[in-house]
Amino acid sequence: MADGNAYRVLRTLAEAEAALVGAAGDTLLIAGGTDLMVRAHPAVRDHALLDVAQVDELRRITLTAGELILGAGITYTECLTEPVIRRACPLLTAVAARFASPQIRNVATLGGNVANASPAGDGVAALWALDAVVDALTPAGAVRLPIDAIVVGPGRLGVPPRSILTAFHVPAAEPGDGSAFYKLVNRAWPEHPMAISLASVAARVRLDAEGRVTLARVVLGAVAPTPVRAAPSEAALVGHAPTAALIARAAALATRAASPVSDVRAAADYRRDVLPALVTTALEAAFEAARSTTGGPSG
Ligand SMILES: Cc1cc2nc3c(=O)[nH]c(=O)nc-3n(C[C@H](O)[C@H](O)[C@H](O)COP(=O)(O)OP(=O)(O)OC[C@H]3O[C@@H](n4cnc5c(N)ncnc54)[C@H](O)[C@@H]3O)c2cc1C
Repeated sequence: MADGNAYRVLRTLAEAEAALVGAAGDTLLIAGGTDLMVRAHPAVRDHALLDVAQVDELRRITLTAGELILGAGITYTECLTEPVIRRACPLLTAVAARFASPQIRNVATLGGNVANASPAGDGVAALWALDAVVDALTPAGAVRLPIDAIVVGPGRLGVPPRSILTAFHVPAAEPGDGSAFYKLVNRAWPEHPMAISLASVAARVRLDAEGRVTLARVVLGAVAPTPVRAAPSEAALVGHAPTAALIARAAALATRAASPVSDVRAAADYRRDVLPALVTTALEAAFEAARSTTGGPSG
């Protein structure tokens, strides 16, 4: 691998692995470049870049028994348009529908979203709610880790530098499953119509034949150092029929999991205050979707 500001396009995972073995410690991977190039003028200038956007193995989508495996190079446009993703993982399709613009979605990847490790990463919150398991190639070999062991802090990964995230394993949706994604952005900035989430909720639920909740994932984005499961909300839901009163109680409990900070996008108090409404909306939509897949009564 050349030094300094070299830029190399890689076509296979073997090529990427070989390039990383001899690479300087500060070599950067680039996929869509929609995070890297925006924040990166001084940071990228002196780094070698390895472009993994065209690596074949990172572009694969595989549906096996009960599991969807998405290559890290899958774009948000593909999350929006690929029939197998729409069917087996509608939560990622819901994220893609609110993600940036068509131009950004065409190149922005799941892998880049996760490796960027922003607390506000929309796909990260969704993968968290899906209990995603991540494949990565590290300098010490291949690893498979849950998403919360990969994204460990703002901008911090649980794998060493020069690791490549290769794929995400998520459960394929089954009858009785429903999911929804909602986010709030700051519309006070007309010059930033594609603003990043100031708070988000990824909800995934499962109903049994009697209409009781057997699984609940309520993941909050942009209100903690990483996406965070609202465990008290999830516990309140499981085992019960999701009445409006139960959803309201679960939504009120969500703030217990949040530890928001004030920043350029919103004040901490505001973030905390909007959470119950966001969680209510997400849960209502997720249960509605779940009922539609069981054929049970809606509303
Ligand atoms: C206008 C605009 C709007 C946006 N809107 C949203 C939004 O609505 N929601 C949201 O969540 N984000 C948004 N983003 C942020 C960005 O688009 C996403 O985080 C995107 O998914 C990043 O993917 P990428 O392929 O472009 O990553 P890149 O910029 O190529 O890379 C990002 C980081 O990941 C690393 N990386 C990339 N691929 C791999 C890999 N396979 N293995 C290991 N490391 C890797 C890079 O080295 C870099 O550190 C927006 C950005 C812009 C510019």
